[in-house]
This record gives sequence, C-alpha cells and structure tokens, in this order.
Amino acid sequence: MNIAVLAMQGAFLEQAATLKQLANSCAQLRKHDDLGFGLDALILPGGESTVQAKLLRDLDLFTPLKERIDGGMPVLATCAGMILLAEHIAGGESPCFASIPMTVRRNAYGRQLGSFHRTAPFADLGNIPMTFIRAPYVEEVRPGAEVLARVDDRIIGVRYRKQVALAFHPELDADERIYRWFLNTIV
Ligand code: GLN
Repeated sequence: MNIAVLAMQGAFLEQAATLKQLANSCAQLRKHDDLGFGLDALILPGGESTVQAKLLRDLDLFTPLKERIDGGMPVLATCAGMILLAEHIAGGESPCFASIPMTVRRNAYGRQLGSFHRTAPFADLGNIPMTFIRAPYVEEVRPGAEVLARVDDRIIGVRYRKQVALAFHPELDADERIYRWFLNTIV
C-alpha cells in the first residue's frame, strides 16, 4: 500500500512515523515529481492552512492532488488539512481543494482556548483522546457529509466518501484507533 503524507509544512513527521508503524511505509510528498508513484491514500497534516494552500500551488501539487481527491483517493486530513478540504471557509477566505461539502471556521475557539485536550466518542470507536491546537470546527455539513464526532456540540470530525477530516491531532496522542480505522475501513 502506498501512503504518503504531504510534507511541505506543519506536523507531518509525527504522522509519517505513525503510518510507517501501522502500514509499513509512508512516503513524504514534497514536490510534483514525488507523485511518480501510485498513491493509495494521502495524509494532510496540521500546520498553517494558508501557507499550505500557497505551497500546494507553488509546488504544482494542487491540480494533481485535487484530481486524485475528486477521483476517490482516500484522504485523512487533520486540522489545517480539514480546512484545505472544506468547500467553504466562514469569513469568505478562498477554499483550497473544496472537496467536502461543509463550512469550517478557522481558529474557531479564540485565543484562550488556543490549545486544549478532550476525550469524546468518535464514530463507533468509543472514546478517543483529542488534542486541539488553534483548531477549526465545522459550522455546517451538507448532504453526503457524515458527522463522526462532536465536542461541546460542535462538529469536529467529518467523513465524505473516502475523505476523513478531523479538527484535532490524532498523531499527538498514543491512541492509534483512528489510523487503524482509516486504513482498515476507508482505504
Ligand atoms: N490554525 C491553523 C489554520 O488555520 C490550523 C492549526 C493546526 O493545524 N493545528 O490553518
């Protein structure tokens, strides 16, 4: 199985390490030429979504990845990655891949709650530890998008077709159930 993590900016090393352990290998996607190999699944890490959106275009990765995502490639996106997949960003910022019918709000918890930790039910996996860092939440999902998890009544996990978007950082907790679920059920 060829899995790659987008490795231009942000928290990609932790994701790569976890995937390497669970799926045997995980490539780091940095430039257009790295797409030479077939891609069975893509991980979009946390970081800064505005920077990532710009780098995707500068590095000629936007169009080939958008085609693959729209074509059904499985994607696991965390935090900034969730923002990259949203069809709409509250406040009118331009969307990036716009591949999940949902509206997200960036930095949605304000300064005081810039970073926090919770445990909450996720899909049918039971309670999962969740670390939020300047996280977005989902204001609205539209038909086809399934809510996977909520914290304080706010949607923080969504699945649409083979795309899974999380507002939190599963790579920062030792619990690997979300990765296993993604690999076994979605990929
Ligand atoms: N606040 C960041 C953004 O808007 C996301 C933060 C993160 O990925 N931890 O892109």
